[in-house]
Amino acid sequence: MPRKGMLRGVKRIVVKIGTSLITEEAKISRRRIERLVGDIAELIEQKYQVVVVSSGAISAGSGALGKKREHLSIPEKQAMAAVGQSILMDEYRKCFRKHGREVGQILLTEDDVKHRRRFLNARHTFNALIEMGVVPIVNENDSVAIKEIRFGDNDTLSAHVANIVEAGLLVILSDVDGFYSELGDELPIEEVRSIDEDLRRRAGGAGSPHGTGGMATKIGAAEIIMKSGELMMIANGRTPGVLPALMRGEKLGTLFKGGKNHMQSRKRWIAFNMKSSGEITIDEGAVRALVESKKSLLASGIIGVSGKFNPGDAVDVMNPNGATIGKGISNYSAAELDMIKGKRTREIRGILSGTYYEEVINRDDMIIHDVP
Ligand code: GLU
Repeated sequence: MPRKGMLRGVKRIVVKIGTSLITEEAKISRRRIERLVGDIAELIEQKYQVVVVSSGAISAGSGALGKKREHLSIPEKQAMAAVGQSILMDEYRKCFRKHGREVGQILLTEDDVKHRRRFLNARHTFNALIEMGVVPIVNENDSVAIKEIRFGDNDTLSAHVANIVEAGLLVILSDVDGFYSELGDELPIEEVRSIDEDLRRRAGGAGSPHGTGGMATKIGAAEIIMKSGELMMIANGRTPGVLPALMRGEKLGTLFKGGKNHMQSRKRWIAFNMKSSGEITIDEGAVRALVESKKSLLASGIIGVSGKFNPGDAVDVMNPNGATIGKGISNYSAAELDMIKGKRTREIRGILSGTYYEEVINRDDMIIHDVP
């Protein structure tokens, strides 16, 4: 299938920008950020939803303070990230504002994707930002993340961000044209359909002195993306207009494409990896909304709650006769649901102060069993 066809269903894109693309002589480069932001703004104009994962905090900090990155201890690097992250955001903000866009900073650690509740909470924040037309800009929370909870590189982080926001495509921009089969090859591989030991070996070691990732972490990211049934590309961020060109289906960089489709893999995860911690019983109207109209579950259709569960846990969904019709991830705890069951969405705000979500179980977080 031509690339254009594969990209047709893509709406949400995560763009990962490597340190080498936005620095010049070990300092943050406005000119370079400006150009990449111009590309991203063009995608947003075309109605794509874009989340940016940008490296460069440590380099921006050390550049500003005149320190050599290679000579820094871990606490010093963390300090540089604290300085550099605000410099980085300031640059992105100035550049995006020229296109009439505000930016929002999200700093994550591995803990945030390991725990379902935090994972979902992060997703809600991303969605709220995107709905407001704000461009989320993500980095690892380097100043506080200790070794045990670090992603360690932004390639891996960007794959997890793509999972959090359910992006159809992750584009990793770096200073190489794509993934090369052998060192010295003239052109990168156009398409990778599966990743085996041999390919992993060819991806080799770490990257440039400026960033953390090399090809190995990019291939690791591709494995995550392909397992989720989505697309990933590695392309050269120095190529002018690279992002719009990629989305036009031009054969640039390397495309990674797994076999399964998005819904199947996600549903499989809910079906097989998550144990139900409770039951939600819903009325006939809600059964119809879920089964026939493929809607999300709202509190108004709930008539009973049992079990003990927290937001992010899986629950079985039962019809009024007590038959299990599906399973999904609840945005609310059992105690909260007990208070809001049968209530209209607008009433919920008055009952639960603080957290408040439109849907009890989002459509994408739910599987419906084949009911005979
Ligand atoms: N989070 C690091 C930074 O902003 C970059 C990690 C990486 O290069 O992958 O400096």
